Amino acid sequence: MVFLIKVAIMGAGLSGLACAITLEQNGIIPTIFEKREVVGDRFVNLEIFLSILTKPVTDVISFFTENYGIIIHPVSNIKNLHIYSENEKSKIQGNLGFISLRGRDSDSLENQFSRQLKSKIIFNSKHTYEELLQEYTHVIIATGDAAYTSKIQVFNESLTVSLRGATIEGDFDKYSVCAWLNNKLAPKGYGYLIPLSEKEAQIVIGYPDYNGIKNINEDQLWENFYKEVCTSLEQDLRITDQFKVKNYIIGLCNTPRIGNTFFVGNCFGSVMPFLGFGQFASILTGIYAALDICGKGNYEQLTHKLRESYKNSLALRRGIELLDNKKLDLFVSGLEGKLGERLFNSKYDFLRIGGAILRPITKTK
Ligand SMILES: Cc1cc2nc3c(=O)[nH]c(=O)nc-3n(C[C@H](O)[C@H](O)[C@H](O)COP(=O)(O)OP(=O)(O)OC[C@H]3O[C@@H](n4cnc5c(N)ncnc54)[C@H](O)[C@@H]3O)c2cc1C
Repeated sequence: MVFLIKVAIMGAGLSGLACAITLEQNGIIPTIFEKREVVGDRFVNLEIFLSILTKPVTDVISFFTENYGIIIHPVSNIKNLHIYSENEKSKIQGNLGFISLRGRDSDSLENQFSRQLKSKIIFNSKHTYEELLQEYTHVIIATGDAAYTSKIQVFNESLTVSLRGATIEGDFDKYSVCAWLNNKLAPKGYGYLIPLSEKEAQIVIGYPDYNGIKNINEDQLWENFYKEVCTSLEQDLRITDQFKVKNYIIGLCNTPRIGNTFFVGNCFGSVMPFLGFGQFASILTGIYAALDICGKGNYEQLTHKLRESYKNSLALRRGIELLDNKKLDLFVSGLEGKLGERLFNSKYDFLRIGGAILRPITKTK
């Protein structure tokens, strides 16, 4: 039977645009509905793909190009990872991943993706899901906001996170990323620094909004983190711009597809709870939804591994939350040298192995 496929994509972010590119490659031109004025119309931030968390894929850039014809130009690759705890530090070297730019910048990933498309993007869209459902044969929910998913189906929230970040000026190695695992700076969370260039970087702290943590003095926490970054880097860093994200939802949708509606990106549950990374799974879910619509795969089956990764990642999160600063010191000092390098550069799936060990201990189903 021949019928006309009409696809609406709600959201011109990573997952929605990856979906559109894949549909176009297969001869379907979707219509994209974007709430904002332009693609990537939000604060500019730096994000990373860390290869230890995307195994067996070690190089996401070549993976997306060679398997799905999606081109990503990263800001740079990551050669060094410096990890600081309260009293210890370690340095890990290798091909550790990539830095990407997001948001309101012409080189952001979302802008790179939109340039790979012919499809029409309707900006300032106020169309609701219900309206699109009436007009289109297939609807892709790609709003980057799990709260939208929970209007349509059950979204199993694991935690919400507060994030605060700043752009800083100083001297940086553009291939080196830093992370701080210290409950005094980011309770049960972590802080990080990602360089944009040799002169500019971004620092961020992120921590879960658990009871007890909710009562902390956020400004004091931020001040302490900023001072610690200056101390660790032995520099007086100048803040040029700041952002805050509240109630960032991390969870997993109950079902990836209802009828001809597909939930992709954060609406699927792409943000992995361990460190809050979601770019890899967001792009993949967009691609997988398109492949299903084109008759080249089954979305539920294709996303099964990502759901398992989510659960493994949640077990790792529950595991790391058990560590006080003394244990974090031990963990960080243990990563120094060959052990850390072997762990980060091995072909083994860290999430799967870590999840297998920690899921029973942390009672993560
Ligand atoms: C501060 C921060 C740091 C992060 N760091 C990392 C990192 O280092 N590594 C990593 O892998 N991940 C990171 N993530 C997570 C990653 O950014 C997300 O998982 C990913 O961007 C989600 O892609 P998406 O397509 O679901 O949503 P997005 O890329 O956010 O796109 C959603 C789009 O939908 C639009 N929209 C919203 N509502 C509507 C509507 N009603 N109608 C139409 N359009 C709508 C939005 O305007 C937006 O354009 C970070 C997230 C944050 C907030």
